Amino acid sequence: STPVTIFCALSKAAATGLLIKGGDYLELLAKIKTVAFDKTGTLTRGEFMVIDFQSVSDEISLNTLLCWVSSIESKSSHPMAAALVGYGSLHSIESKPENVEDFQTFPGEGVFGKIDGKDIYIGNWRIGLRAGCQRRSLDAVQQTSGKTNGYIFCGATLVGRFGLSDTCRSGAAEAIEGLKELGIRSAMLTGDSNAAAMLAWDQLDRSLEIIHAELLPEEKAKFIEEFKKDGPTAMVGDGINDALALAKADIGISMGISGSTLAMETGDIILMSNDIRKIPNAIYLAKRTFKKLV
Ligand code: ADP
Ligand code: MG
Repeated sequence: STPVTIFCALSKAAATGLLIKGGDYLELLAKIKTVAFDKTGTLTRGEFMVIDFQSVSDEISLNTLLCWVSSIESKSSHPMAAALVGYGSLHSIESKPENVEDFQTFPGEGVFGKIDGKDIYIGNWRIGLRAGCQRRSLDAVQQTSGKTNGYIFCGATLVGRFGLSDTCRSGAAEAIEGLKELGIRSAMLTGDSNAAAMLAWDQLDRSLEIIHAELLPEEKAKFIEEFKKDGPTAMVGDGINDALALAKADIGISMGISGSTLAMETGDIILMSNDIRKIPNAIYLAKRTFKKLV
């Protein structure tokens, strides 16, 4: 291909909201064998709804929990955080936010903040282990089946739980189907639970070929290395938890509108419209540009 045809293809992609940071990536795009997707915010909309929220402690009221959670989550950019903040301000009696100190994010786990000298952890079972809680005390509490379950800890004690649901993006199933037609396999790499991963898989017409759940950022990157043994691999993600995998992939594709700044800086391609159907389209365009159509 001549520089002119490559430039034309890049402009064409840009016009549809796909920013490709150079012709080399377009050439690589034509050779992709595997596309790995993050789940939350990538295959799903990342617009969570709180299904249930409970205190599991005799000492700490639901209202206190709502207040802690909305105060701490208001400092997080994770897609779950907005839903929890909204739920907290709607349901708590007094909505005055608490002062949060030492706020920290643990990618793939959750968040931490100190309120009134108390250590509060919010997230999945992993952050519970970090708080010093035993895994069996988590298994003992009720779960919302097929949903994303979260826990609240005060120190090492489990004090609350909640269930959240998210929905798949429209066009996500089509995108995977489009990749399949181009002979490309699709995988899901998620930090969320197995149950939430299976629910998304079901919603996507069970079209994804590979699914791995409960992954930490470095584990996502490790799977990308595995996939690369079978040929050029692209990773699509939106969160700070995806940055390592995006960097490890031959091509990192980051979500434009909703994505974290870190993901956008790491990505070689930015999907401005958040429409993942643009991915098979771009691969088709790349194959045509480099005459790799089969
Ligand atoms: P994905 O890989 O699907 O995008 P993440 O790695 O972003 O998922 O998140 C993995 C899990 O970590 C979430 O399902 C949730 O349990 C927990 N988590 C992450 N951030 C937060 C947060 N701000 N509040 C509560 N839980 C969180
Ligand atoms: Mg994500």
